[in-house]
Amino acid sequence: MKTVYNFGGDADYSDPRQKDKTVTGGKGANLAEMAGIGLPVPPGFTITTEESLSYLTRGEAFSDKLRADVAASLAHVERAVGKRFGDPEDPLLVSVRSGARVSMPGMMDTVLNLGLNDVTVEGLAANSGHSRFAWDSYRRFIQMYSDVVLELDHGLFEEALEIAKEDRGYFTDVEMEADDWQKLVGQFKTIVEQERGEPFPQDVHEQLWGAIAAVFESWESDRAKVYRRLNSIPAGWGTAVNVQAMVFGNMGETSATGVAFTRDPSTGERTYYGEWLVNAQGEDVVAGIRTPQYLTKARREAAGADLPSMEEAMPEAYGELARVFDLLETHYRDMQDIEFTVQQGKLWMLQTRSGKRTAKAALKMAVDMADEGLIDQETAILRVDPMALDQLLHPTLDPDAERDVLGKGLPASPGAASGKIVLDADTAELWSNRDESVILVRVETSPEDIHGMHAAKGILTARGGMTSHAAVVARGMGRPCVSGASAVSIKLDERTLRIGDREFKEGDIITLDGATGEIMAGQVPTIEPELAGDFGVLMDWADKHRRMGVRTNAETPDDCRTARGFGAEGIGLCRTEHMFFDAGRISAVRAMILADDESGRRAALHRLLPEQRGDFAEIFRTMTGLPCTIRLLDPPLHEFMPTRDEEFEELSESLSVGVDHLKRRAAELHEFNPMLGHRGCRLGITFPEIYEMQARAIFEAACEVTAEGGDPVVPEVMIPLVATRRELEILRELVDRVAEEVFTEQGRTLDYLVGTMIELPRAALMAGEIAQEARFFSFGTNDLTQTALGVSRDDAGRFLAPYVDKGIYAKDPFVSLDIDGVGQLVELAAERGRATTPDIKLGICGEHGGDPESIAFCEKVGLDYVSASPYRVPIARLAAAQAAL
Ligand code: PEP
Ligand code: MG
Repeated sequence: MKTVYNFGGDADYSDPRQKDKTVTGGKGANLAEMAGIGLPVPPGFTITTEESLSYLTRGEAFSDKLRADVAASLAHVERAVGKRFGDPEDPLLVSVRSGARVSMPGMMDTVLNLGLNDVTVEGLAANSGHSRFAWDSYRRFIQMYSDVVLELDHGLFEEALEIAKEDRGYFTDVEMEADDWQKLVGQFKTIVEQERGEPFPQDVHEQLWGAIAAVFESWESDRAKVYRRLNSIPAGWGTAVNVQAMVFGNMGETSATGVAFTRDPSTGERTYYGEWLVNAQGEDVVAGIRTPQYLTKARREAAGADLPSMEEAMPEAYGELARVFDLLETHYRDMQDIEFTVQQGKLWMLQTRSGKRTAKAALKMAVDMADEGLIDQETAILRVDPMALDQLLHPTLDPDAERDVLGKGLPASPGAASGKIVLDADTAELWSNRDESVILVRVETSPEDIHGMHAAKGILTARGGMTSHAAVVARGMGRPCVSGASAVSIKLDERTLRIGDREFKEGDIITLDGATGEIMAGQVPTIEPELAGDFGVLMDWADKHRRMGVRTNAETPDDCRTARGFGAEGIGLCRTEHMFFDAGRISAVRAMILADDESGRRAALHRLLPEQRGDFAEIFRTMTGLPCTIRLLDPPLHEFMPTRDEEFEELSESLSVGVDHLKRRAAELHEFNPMLGHRGCRLGITFPEIYEMQARAIFEAACEVTAEGGDPVVPEVMIPLVATRRELEILRELVDRVAEEVFTEQGRTLDYLVGTMIELPRAALMAGEIAQEARFFSFGTNDLTQTALGVSRDDAGRFLAPYVDKGIYAKDPFVSLDIDGVGQLVELAAERGRATTPDIKLGICGEHGGDPESIAFCEKVGLDYVSASPYRVPIARLAAAQAAL
């Protein structure tokens, strides 16, 4: 097997291994590819990743074969360039760079100008006619080689350069003359000898092997190991080494160097985009010592810049570059990120790779390239990261604005917002009615805060994870939310709070970035999203290619409309408890909970019935023609309980019952572990009148809306937190009975489905039996994750981050489904459910229904639909299409 592959000159590219990134690394494969299609690539060779690994396992020793192959390849480069390595008259110089399978920025630096020594530098000076250039190149080489290969402190060299400039009264490197550089080279060599105990290597072959060894060994450096761990890169990949003839962008005014993109990486526009510098070497562009110039005339003019663009200053080289851009795009069928050098008027390509891009650019490029015929629709769909769409649907912080960051919490719901701090939901509503922007800050939120969350522009909580109440509700409403920000501590009685070490009071302005979890002082300007035509086009293509349906989790008509606008094909989860908190209702709900007996409860429920019926009718109207899954009451009753004295007093007055009595009832209802307590179907089993009222409201509303004309409503009634078949049987019979009653009263019959959520491990295991009672299953993976992992979803925020940092969970399991564990429960329940009831409809309505990786898993298991919060619907549509391709 070959250890080294040549490129450029008369190289032969017939071995397919050469263009295989796993063998020659990303850079090496692309250099061969570019040279192979006839682009001007300086000749060179790539040592394979396999050789780096065998060097390391051999105890850092080169094999004889590698030594022989490198010698032969060096001869290839010498032939192609017409110069000899180490030639005192006209020396060949090379660069040595690492190149792993994927780019690993900063893992290993580059060594440029290798092959210079005290003799060849004179030859370079004489031959190029640029003495300054030769000595500058030599000092750069010593500096880089000492840093990267000899591992000496680079600060010593920088210090010497600074002193040299100071002594001569210079401000910039540009002012240094040939003999200034020559003197500095002498000083650099002294530093090397002092630090190393040996002189700087003068033998060019020793230089080359030293650099190759350093690249090989860099694979095992601490920073490479950290980078690999953070990016899940296996240690067994190894890195390739690229040795390439140097070309010089610093050979005077007809030379230049630059970086460029074939399209604008921030907007996606089809214009050449990049920066370049006359008379400079690669690192000068990025180092920021000189201000880079614009590539095109149009850009320079738009920016009002004085220095000429490359198009104007070097029209020939620019014309050649433009030709190369087009060739590369047609070849790679993607936007390329390029490094180039112009040496005395001639263009050379040093690197190409697929360029990083913003969400907006990714979308535009995918659609444009499909329209141009460069890629097909399937490829266009796969090109856009579904999560990146989030950036397009919400306002984001102006990237150029200053930020005074106070602390960080979990990025619970994307978007950015500024407003006055308010510490309770009523104040939020009050101030927002006065047209003020407010940010609701709470220790954690409860269903009681819904109206305040709705009124607020953003939500910040000190506690709670990614599926805490605040996070779920905020995502549903499309409000930015930062949750679990432990740096926040609230003093409600003083109406103040601390964020980190800073003190704030209610009314002070803060800004939240729900995409990063950052909390900032004051107002930071935001940019509104632009849902341009490309978005709709890509979504249409995605819809054509996906198999699974996409529904939404929504309960207010507003959210339903938003979700429908985003393409939701029905409601997968309507959490009815959210409707119990509207101002007029909460007292009836509390009266129901605190009633002493069934008749008391029924009286209170009677007051709620018309309200619920109205809610459902509105939802059915908004979602006309689409399926709607309505879940009966789920959360523990105490969530609705009054807590403040005024609330008890108000209730006591409206019910004519003493405050003490109410407080005693409240104490009786206290639970130690409400998440595992009196909630879900257990409420329906113990207080059937609650579910009877809700079922009645659903069927009456369905009859009412059907009677208005249009498509008949087909309600799907969902029973939460079922663990046994018998629970579902009892409650299904209850729903059937109520349906029958309503149909008789209304003189019309409607189709409807009764189904359940699978959100307890027992339910998943017993899905075969439970399916006998169910027409559909919806996986409630929030609770299923909570119960399978034994991790409280409301407390996870406090300890899950270190778990993810340590790799115990690859991702927050409340965000991305724990496929290995919880996934097994889903898969098994789907299989067992289908075995009993082959046409059972299967969906998911946990937060994972809006997470692309989890959606891919749902496709694999064969679920019929996913349900996501309104703003995640487009993400789910795209992710479902990608999963199906
Ligand atoms: C779930 O548990 O996944 C679910 C959707 O229900 P909730 O989040 O309301 O408990
Ligand atoms: Mg649940």
